[in-house]
Amino acid sequence: MTKKIQQIQVRTRIAPSPTGPAHIGTARTALFNYLFAKQNNGKFILRIEDTDKERSEQKWTDEIIEELKWLGISWDEGPDISGEFEPYKQSQRLDIYKKYLEQLLIEEKAYYCFCTEEELEAKRQEQMGRGLAPKYDGKCTHLSKEIVDKNIAEGKSSVIRFKVQNKKVKFDDLIRGQVEFDASLLGDVVIAKNLSSPLYHFAVVVDDFLMQISHVIRGEEHLSNTPRQILIQEALGFYKPIYAHLPLMLNLDKSKMSKRQGDVAISDYHKNGYLPEALINFMVLLGWNPGTDKEMFTLAHLVKEFSIEKVQKAGAVFNVQRLDFLNGLYIREKAIDKLTELCIPYLKESGLLVEGQFSQNKLQEIVEVSRTRMKKLSEISSLSDFFFSNKLIYDKDLLQWQKAEDEAIKESLMFSRNILLENKTWELKDLETELFTGAEKFNLQKGYPEKNKGYLLWPLRVALSGKSTSPSPFEIAYILGKEKTLKLVDEAIKIIS
Ligand code: GLU
Repeated sequence: MTKKIQQIQVRTRIAPSPTGPAHIGTARTALFNYLFAKQNNGKFILRIEDTDKERSEQKWTDEIIEELKWLGISWDEGPDISGEFEPYKQSQRLDIYKKYLEQLLIEEKAYYCFCTEEELEAKRQEQMGRGLAPKYDGKCTHLSKEIVDKNIAEGKSSVIRFKVQNKKVKFDDLIRGQVEFDASLLGDVVIAKNLSSPLYHFAVVVDDFLMQISHVIRGEEHLSNTPRQILIQEALGFYKPIYAHLPLMLNLDKSKMSKRQGDVAISDYHKNGYLPEALINFMVLLGWNPGTDKEMFTLAHLVKEFSIEKVQKAGAVFNVQRLDFLNGLYIREKAIDKLTELCIPYLKESGLLVEGQFSQNKLQEIVEVSRTRMKKLSEISSLSDFFFSNKLIYDKDLLQWQKAEDEAIKESLMFSRNILLENKTWELKDLETELFTGAEKFNLQKGYPEKNKGYLLWPLRVALSGKSTSPSPFEIAYILGKEKTLKLVDEAIKIIS
């Protein structure tokens, strides 16, 4: 069980930038922040970091909200529900940042820089040529107020830079322990394009302070941002939140997860038919190890059992096979009516299910017999297509069981046909018993090995499904009904004759 933080009100946040499809890494970070806040009776906040005007779009904000909700992650304050520290969109907080930017400029902790891109690039090249790590050389640090005013009046393009002190920056990371950076390597950092256009490092610091964020839990890719942000906090006289940097998410080959090697958008997983419960379960294990063999965790369990101290430092491999495995487990556990509801859109989209074709009960039966093989909801179509079509297309050879001659297969199918024809109840149990008993009789009659039921059941199963793998022939027959079942057996007899 986690040590609970007692003294302070825990407030965590997820602060995505709406510049593209909501990323699976954002979902994991949101989850860890959510769990940490909930288990400490704290608050979890959603803040949209849309200071990049060119790349931010409302549709991506909508998607972030929609996909996190789909996952079952909820927030206590956010742009869609407001809260004590609103607004929760950075584009609506520009006046706030302006005030703090002015403060830093007045206190000479920040300054206008008029260096052009070309100039900076030339300096970078020159430094690298001398084997040095590139860093801003501080050319504009000491420009007089007159020069600055004149340059601005002339419309010279500029940015606002923060003066980075040459010192060691230390902080305790809940996952990494003590982290130390030498800030003298950083160079003065650009914190705004102008008074009305703050950049990430600056806006994030102001907001974390004003929104009283106690813990900043975010991906390792932000670790090197932390010293800059701590220095900005110090310059503004803000408290320092507690940091926890989550391990990177890696591909199987240990490279950083990227679009090129697979899906990275939450919506891809959503569309492909992963269940939110499975994705949550999978994501929490990307870095967190419960220390037991337990594999399945609901969100409610996780609030109790998750512990940030047990999160590893080493990169966490995103193994889709494991996700598929977990998803399969959740699919098998899902209430059948709910699972059917979730499968219906996939059946419709693939053109198999026509409105009114099957009763809800029938559909549930189809999903029930298919779910053991399903790893994703989207697979329902390929696993159950034969239930929906009137004509099956398959190769004659598929009907063959262990080198049986065509004539023997025909006999087998006719034997099954007779059993099915004679059946009075069309109950699953009866069909199963009658066909099993029939298989034994058929083997005896033909001199086949007693236990090898495939001689009777394989050709029948293929006749009803047209596939090499499918549910059992009694399950299919039961769902199809007598008339359709007999028709399919007759067609198979024709194929083999
Ligand atoms: N907007 C940043 C991002 O999307 C937030 C980083 C942070 O959590 O500080 O990566």
